[in-house]
Amino acid sequence: MAERIFKTEGLVLRTRVLGEADRLITLLTLNHGKFAAVARGARKIKSKLAAGVDIFTYGTYTFHRGRTWPIITGLDTIERFPWFREDPELYPYGSYMAELTDRLVIGEEPSPAIFELLLDGWRMLGESKEKFLLCRAFELKLAHSAGYSPCLDFCAMCGSDNWGSEKGLTFSPREGGLLCFGCQGAGLIKLDSGTVALARRLLETPLSQVKMIRPSTRQKQELTRMNSLFLAYHLDLGDLKSRHLLSE
Ligand SMILES: [Zn+2]
Repeated sequence: MAERIFKTEGLVLRTRVLGEADRLITLLTLNHGKFAAVARGARKIKSKLAAGVDIFTYGTYTFHRGRTWPIITGLDTIERFPWFREDPELYPYGSYMAELTDRLVIGEEPSPAIFELLLDGWRMLGESKEKFLLCRAFELKLAHSAGYSPCLDFCAMCGSDNWGSEKGLTFSPREGGLLCFGCQGAGLIKLDSGTVALARRLLETPLSQVKMIRPSTRQKQELTRMNSLFLAYHLDLGDLKSRHLLSE
């Protein structure tokens, strides 16, 4: 993005105070990937920018390239996802999706698939009563969009689909997928075959449909563990602040 003035749709992932009256906001944009931009005077009550620079805003933003960060010179709010402000239970789930996206997307490489996924995720959290499956599906789809899909159809090391056991399957966060009997070593997680089927289904099913899936408690627990270890290992995510605030 070399042009001095540019315009793109964006989703606000994060906002920070900058100086006396400004805000520095982190945006995931449709055409320019992720970057931080300055909203000058956004902390003043009368500012035209104040309404469009909070987390959970979808808008069209115009920027002027500044010396350090692009400066927001205009914005039109498209959607404000009011359920995150009205329902304190939903807020951490939306924040979690934003934080995960923020950590995963690096730089200004356009990522329209991830943009659509986050937009869909925020909308579905408001429309659906389901939170757990939406977040697990979001994690898997986000990893997939970033090119880190877990290997669930064949052995992540040798490519065999002969698992060697009917009882359960073995997942390696380090290898990024299931391992056959011959490749198994230390540091593995045992998974019920139903949990693997659930993960595959969540990858394939649109977010709007995931609430129709009915997993068992064991499958839910195993999937949570598998996803968090996989994400921590492969995406170098470390500890996510918003993860601790989720109730399920
Ligand atoms: Zn193998």
